[in-house]
Amino acid sequence: MKYTVLTLFPEIVDAFFSSSIMAKAVQRGIIGYRAVNIRDFALDKHHSCDDSPYGGGAGMLMMAEPLGMALEAQGVVPGRPPSESSRPRVVYLSPSGKPFNQELAREFAAEEELVLICGRYEGIDQRIIDAYVDDEISIGDYVLSSGEVAALVVIDASYRLIDAVITPESLEEESFSDGLLEYPQYTRPEIYGTMRVPDVLLSGHHENIRRWRLRQRVEKTLLVRPDLIRRGLEKDAFDAETRKLIQEMRDAQDCAADPEGET
Ligand code: SAM
Repeated sequence: MKYTVLTLFPEIVDAFFSSSIMAKAVQRGIIGYRAVNIRDFALDKHHSCDDSPYGGGAGMLMMAEPLGMALEAQGVVPGRPPSESSRPRVVYLSPSGKPFNQELAREFAAEEELVLICGRYEGIDQRIIDAYVDDEISIGDYVLSSGEVAALVVIDASYRLIDAVITPESLEEESFSDGLLEYPQYTRPEIYGTMRVPDVLLSGHHENIRRWRLRQRVEKTLLVRPDLIRRGLEKDAFDAETRKLIQEMRDAQDCAADPEGET
């Protein structure tokens, strides 16, 4: 997998790719990356990449020409979807994009190359989106000052799903892997202040630990992300044991909310 990041600030991207597990994946040749400075494709001697928007309004906009040339230098041809050509999939990070999630991270991890466009200022000229972009992706319902952080979120969530980057077992019971959030985890010391590690985790009883963890996952997901439970049930994504736990906990919630069963 190769990530090509089009940015006005390549140093932000370089710093990320040269640290931790990512640096190892790059060294081992599993991941390739290139930070392309859009300014290198500017047309004037000041290397301008932004201008004021037509129709007025606050702020500046990234101009089409430097971005278009930067894209074409990466082999991106306008108007051809990736499925019909060998050209890389082009993603523009944008607050008005489709929400990013684990499913999309998995989809991106299966690509041979992703080209990520990082916006600045008020964003980029719409004609670049119309001509070259395959996916507009938002990392959440808030506005960042730049697309670099968003691009790194997409890269970070997807590269770790590529085979051989991290051990498959680490991914198995992670949050979102199967529609549930992760269980709570503990490491040494056994007692921290007055707080003890739950006894079951010290018992060495694998089946009890498994059951406890599943229960914790269901309980937490029901509490903080009931939308995930709803979606999982709709898609029939849970096994019988998980469905039974969900039902039990929902019944207990209903009972606590209406102890006399009056409603
Ligand atoms: N004027 C834009 C709007 O109101 O939607 C906001 C532009 S923002 C200040 C500058 C750049 O940050 C965007 O072009 C985009 O690349 C990036 N960005 C900001 N928020 C983002 C988000 N939630 N997800 C992905 N990218 C984001």
